Amino acid sequence: MNTKELIKKYREYYKVNEMISNTLSIIGFEDETDAPKKAHKEREEILNYFYMEYFKRTTSNEYLGLLEEMKKHYDSLPPLYQRAVTLDLKDVERDRKVPEQVAKEAQKVMNQSSYYWKEAKQNDDYSIWAPYFKEVIHYSKVLAKYYGAVDNSYYNTYLDMYEEGTSEKELDIFFDKLKKRIVPLLKKVMNSKVNIRTDFLHTRVNKSQQEKLGKLTAKSIGYDFSRGMLKETEHPFTNGLTHNDVRITTHYYENDWTSNVYSCAHEGGHGIYEQNLNKKYEGTSVYGACSMAFHESQSRFFENIIAKNKNFVNYIFPKYKKIIPSTLKDVSVEEFYKAINKVQPSLIRTEADELTYCLHIIVRYEIEKLIFNNDDIDVNDLPRIWNEKYKEYLGITPPSDKEGILQDVHWSTGFGYFFSYAVGNAYSAQIYHKMKEELDVDKLLSEGKVNVIKDWLTKNIYSEARMLSPKELIKKVTGEDLNPDYYCDYLENKYSEIYELEKDE
Ligand code: ZN
Repeated sequence: MNTKELIKKYREYYKVNEMISNTLSIIGFEDETDAPKKAHKEREEILNYFYMEYFKRTTSNEYLGLLEEMKKHYDSLPPLYQRAVTLDLKDVERDRKVPEQVAKEAQKVMNQSSYYWKEAKQNDDYSIWAPYFKEVIHYSKVLAKYYGAVDNSYYNTYLDMYEEGTSEKELDIFFDKLKKRIVPLLKKVMNSKVNIRTDFLHTRVNKSQQEKLGKLTAKSIGYDFSRGMLKETEHPFTNGLTHNDVRITTHYYENDWTSNVYSCAHEGGHGIYEQNLNKKYEGTSVYGACSMAFHESQSRFFENIIAKNKNFVNYIFPKYKKIIPSTLKDVSVEEFYKAINKVQPSLIRTEADELTYCLHIIVRYEIEKLIFNNDDIDVNDLPRIWNEKYKEYLGITPPSDKEGILQDVHWSTGFGYFFSYAVGNAYSAQIYHKMKEELDVDKLLSEGKVNVIKDWLTKNIYSEARMLSPKELIKKVTGEDLNPDYYCDYLENKYSEIYELEKDE
């Protein structure tokens, strides 16, 4: 076959892979949103079946043969297909190392585990999930052994899967730097005499008003509803199918209405990335976000740096006031800005303020390391270890596992994702720093012109899709490697102003 024929064959094969994975996503989305709960088991059967079909197709001899053939013609392939074949071969070669039977067992374990995790959380009873969690740990290690260790570490195997080239060694240094600056800053903030009023964040706001607030926020930061939709789920998430179908979800708490507002900004940020990827890469594995940390960098950017920015708040607050006039009638924009940025060590990661957020991630990162670096870890010890670490880093102890180890969905199906949030935060501040050299961000935000910011991100980040590795992309956009100092500087500036702190010399 010549290159042209190879590319044609690749695109045909890839298209079917994509259709199956989109089908899985759509069924999963329905399962989490509007589909009848009673048919959950039937849907699970369908999901299992199509997942195996997907697994077989993406690990087949035919597919491997095709990719290897492309690899032989590497030099004559256009850059897009050079990158695609590199990305795909890495995945296929890794997945083919797992025997079909083991993959099947692992998939079954993960499905059961996510079901019982939900049960356990609803009933606040860790023991319901513990036996399945144990199996998840076991299978994660079994799979990692088939995939192969990276630098003698099975944990690295998963880290590298989410963020090409990232390792435990690198993250230890990264988290250490964060800790050294965030912990003392938090102490100063907690000692500040500044009083921040938050009563109006907890007055009752009904679902239909909340939906309006959420949609307004997502739209104002640049999420395109003509190519998306907003639904309610237990845990907010984003499903990017094609650039014309990017769905986001939120959760409405009647007595905590800003939770929904900033969930919509967060998922809206993920959605904006997916909606603005470079169309010319569609139909290949290059079409997608650079890495999960880059994905989180965009969600956290829009959620915090933009939606909680003073200038943006000045712009949008009168609009919020129109939707919920009685809630905000005697609230000034200054009071609102301070309330949404109030620092308070708390138990739930997704509701954490920007300053304490990374401490929640450090807890999870350290526990993941513990799980991977100890063969005899007892699953029954983990809730206690979790609580001890919360006491150490945040000074509080969860009164129950529901507000402790059971809070996040992630470990119900595997490990290695959490660091993406912290690295994402760091990327977002580093990118923001660069953006401000080229754009008058404050002025744009005060005028509600977030589209200019979105266009800048599209040009610099979204248009690259997966052509570059995360290390290459951050360097290309900002001129340097990942540097957590930008994030720490950003936090220091923001909170010194809000809490009227004296600056260290
Ligand atoms: Zn996210």
